[in-house]
Amino acid sequence: MDNLRFDVVKEAFRKRPVKLEVTNERPSEQFGKYVFSRDKMYKYLPVDIFNKMMDVMENGERLDRSIADGVANGMKKWAKDHGATHYTHWFQPLTEGTAEKHDSFIESDGKGGMIEEFSGKLLVQQEPDASSFPSGGIRNTFEARGYSAWDPTSPVFIIDDTLCIPTIFISYTGEALDYKAPLLRSLRAVNNAAKEVCQYFYPDVKKVHTNLGWEQEYFLVDEDLFFARPDLMLTGRTLMGHDSAKNQQMDDHYFGTIPERVQAFMKDLEIHSLELGIPVKTRHNEVAPGQFELAPIFEECNLAVDHNMLLMALMKKVAHRHSFRVLLHEKPFAGINGSGKHNNWSLSTDTGILLHKSGKNTNDNLRFVVFIVETLMGVYKHNGLLKASVMSATNDHRLGANEAPPAIISSFLGRQITDLLEHIEKADKQNLFTVKGKQGIHLDIPEIPELLIDNTDRNRTSPFAFTGNRFEFRAVGSEANCASSLIVLNTAVAEALTNFKQRVDALTEQGEDQMSAIIEIIRQDIKTCKPIHFDGNGYSDESVQMFEAMNVMKRNELKARNEVKWETYTKKIQIEARVMGDLAMNHIIPVVTHYQSRLAKNVSSMIDIFGKEEGERLTARNVKILRDIAEHIQAIETGVDELVEARKIANKIDCQREKAIAYHDIITPKMEEIRQHIDKLELIVSDEMWTLPKYRELLFIR
Ligand code: ADP
Ligand code: MG
Repeated sequence: MDNLRFDVVKEAFRKRPVKLEVTNERPSEQFGKYVFSRDKMYKYLPVDIFNKMMDVMENGERLDRSIADGVANGMKKWAKDHGATHYTHWFQPLTEGTAEKHDSFIESDGKGGMIEEFSGKLLVQQEPDASSFPSGGIRNTFEARGYSAWDPTSPVFIIDDTLCIPTIFISYTGEALDYKAPLLRSLRAVNNAAKEVCQYFYPDVKKVHTNLGWEQEYFLVDEDLFFARPDLMLTGRTLMGHDSAKNQQMDDHYFGTIPERVQAFMKDLEIHSLELGIPVKTRHNEVAPGQFELAPIFEECNLAVDHNMLLMALMKKVAHRHSFRVLLHEKPFAGINGSGKHNNWSLSTDTGILLHKSGKNTNDNLRFVVFIVETLMGVYKHNGLLKASVMSATNDHRLGANEAPPAIISSFLGRQITDLLEHIEKADKQNLFTVKGKQGIHLDIPEIPELLIDNTDRNRTSPFAFTGNRFEFRAVGSEANCASSLIVLNTAVAEALTNFKQRVDALTEQGEDQMSAIIEIIRQDIKTCKPIHFDGNGYSDESVQMFEAMNVMKRNELKARNEVKWETYTKKIQIEARVMGDLAMNHIIPVVTHYQSRLAKNVSSMIDIFGKEEGERLTARNVKILRDIAEHIQAIETGVDELVEARKIANKIDCQREKAIAYHDIITPKMEEIRQHIDKLELIVSDEMWTLPKYRELLFIR
């Protein structure tokens, strides 16, 4: 019997690694090849314009329109030298992924010919039609315009023939329609709040940076197998498929030898990433078969977010060249590990790292404690919001389940820090803190050996763990824009630091010594943030107040984002439900019925040959299978009917939130039920007749 699935699987397993062009270029030479970075600016811009650009990039000075033309001109020259013919404003709308609209540099020269032009005006601002991007109701239908405006803190880069300009995306009336605009505002809020607190300890600190080092997990599947699975193609995950007898139970994939074909893909991806300035460093196999991870060296938060978005796009492109598909879905396969994106988050100043105990003196020790505790204060106060910021239809499979990050955002500090905080909280204040005349203050905070700090939380169970010099937020979805949760984290920490300072200053105004006031407040906060299970409402008034007070988002911007989130959730499950119906009725049932008829024919011919009594005895097993199949088919048909009906009812609900909840509570479990029956059938029906590639074929790359 011809079996299409066998052919596809054989083909997939026979594929050889793609040979990469041999080059003698070192990674350090590849780095930033297609980025208009400082050294390129120095080469392509006049000196005065270069200096102003540095001011803009380093000190957040406004970009003066008078220098924009000069910058654009140098940029254009550089882009042309690298074969670019087009440019685009590259932005991050509230969908997944990025958006771009390409325009050619070509302009009429007014004499019937063409010249290549690129003015400062085109660099700085554009007005793409925003009507097809989600806005959560912010945009009036009569005012569909949106603005994209250059973010000069993220350098422009070239992909293929196009100069890409990172931009924010805002509505005509100034509300953010993207992730970058509020992210930048949240970074400003952290800088303002953290700088002031830092200055208690080091008055000459001028700037506090937020850093991000993401670790990107992903699955690879062979492209031909992918095309044979409509569910993977349309929803990014398998909606059905029985467990493979062998999956991850032997723990033999994690850090194992990387398959040759995958290694070739990784190498290719690394070269492209480096050329775009993404400092990729680590690659390895992950826990599940077919699962891998890639991580760069950490960078300033805004740049790191852009780089992660760029990387996800790049992965898809490069995978295709290697006849792979990248699955960024958080749970592409049931029963084995899903993918996340660990966000390593830290603060540093223009003079050093903040979340790092150098242990040199009292100042360092206390400053370290203040920043740890106030970060926790932010996280505890806005726990619900933080959780909402990582939640999605796809990450739901991972967060709800008992994989590494539990559904409640709790924190893990490690024994050393926990003991230290306990000591500060419990000790007599007189002993903890004494002013010793000329020698200054004495602070009784035990030393923490550096080695122990670096050895914290290796069990990977805490969603927000302190790991030496940073917090690692592990609940972020593999597919998500990191900015979504960082906007919340940054703003929450900014608010906590601001509150901290207000309370310290209030005490010092009453005449208390500053150090003593700091210790007093920090002791209070250690007590407050101790209950690690703070389960709050994501969009409470408190959250709105926080965003407004920190100048990160206004009430209507938040409300809009919330709407988009619910709507996106519903749409995703809607698509899944449709695909489920189609697969069940048009793939599974026809195949199963075919097999059923074959068995039925066998039963009647056996009876013809052996007579009724003996024939029935000999075909008893087949008759039982016939009955089982019939039961499963019936259950699937009823299930699909109910699914369609439930969708019709849910679709009539006006409120986006309630609609999403209906989809979550009614549609999702129904799909699970149908799946159970299909997965049972997969085990019953003859292997040669099954058309969909099975888990054992999808998961293992040879
Ligand atoms: P793992 O957590 O799996 O042990 P690594 O130690 O390789 O992995 O680090 C993971 C990520 O943490 C990397 O992207 C790295 O750049 C980042 N990272 C390291 N130090 C910091 C820091 N101080 N701030 C932010 N990110 C950091
Ligand atoms: Mg990690």
